[in-house]
Amino acid sequence: MGGYTPAATAPGFGTAMSSRTLQIDDRLYDYLLAVSLREPEILRRLRAETADMPFAGMQISPEQGQFMALLVELLGAERCLEIGTFTGYSALAVARALPAHGCVVACDINEEYTAVARRYWAEAGVADKIELRLGPALATLDDLIADGAAGSFDFAFIDADKGNYSLYFERALTLVRPGGLIAVDNVLWGGAVADPADEREDTEAIRAFNRALHDDGRVSLSLVPIGDGLSLARKR
Ligand code: SAM
Ligand code: CA
Repeated sequence: MGGYTPAATAPGFGTAMSSRTLQIDDRLYDYLLAVSLREPEILRRLRAETADMPFAGMQISPEQGQFMALLVELLGAERCLEIGTFTGYSALAVARALPAHGCVVACDINEEYTAVARRYWAEAGVADKIELRLGPALATLDDLIADGAAGSFDFAFIDADKGNYSLYFERALTLVRPGGLIAVDNVLWGGAVADPADEREDTEAIRAFNRALHDDGRVSLSLVPIGDGLSLARKR
């Protein structure tokens, strides 16, 4: 599949129309939130509590949570998979968008982070929709496949350790149904993926994942520059 030649010049601020994605400065970001964010109070409080924790930056942004909830609604999803739960923001945003009988299987290894998650899920009244599986996600995904769950998920969100992204994606592709969606977070990695001088392990892993996904004919693809970059792959 063909490569892309970047435009020689980027349009400046104030350009009325543009054939490339806008650069969003703080003022425009505040405006975007002001005219579109509908963050429920419980999610806002979870964000505030997480902000005081170490690694708070791991949480997805509120507009991304809202976007993922919209995707789940569009898909008519009932069964969702999450790889990387942390304090539970994305799982809560997704669970709230599911019908009463819907479920999220949430994978994480950290009891301390997910204790916060459980508290908010209970308060939000969605605890019975979220099944937390504590343990290395690869083993959990393999167990799900061994238990016959292949093709049974509508939506999967990959947001755990970046070195395993390619392995998570393969398993997620097995676990979602044809027409199901896999969303992969942090694919722009703060811009580091485009900096040839950045050779950190995680940067290289995300670069390799992005390259392979570009060439992966098993899915339809779009990389959405929301949050830290979210690749959407629809299983064909
Ligand atoms: N989606 C979350 C949210 O909305 O707040 C953020 C997830 S955070 C970026 C990544 C999470 O992956 C951490 O909570 C970490 O404990 C978990 N994690 C790291 N390695 C893992 C592994 N091998 N298996 C399962 N979870 C893992
Ligand atoms: Ca993330």
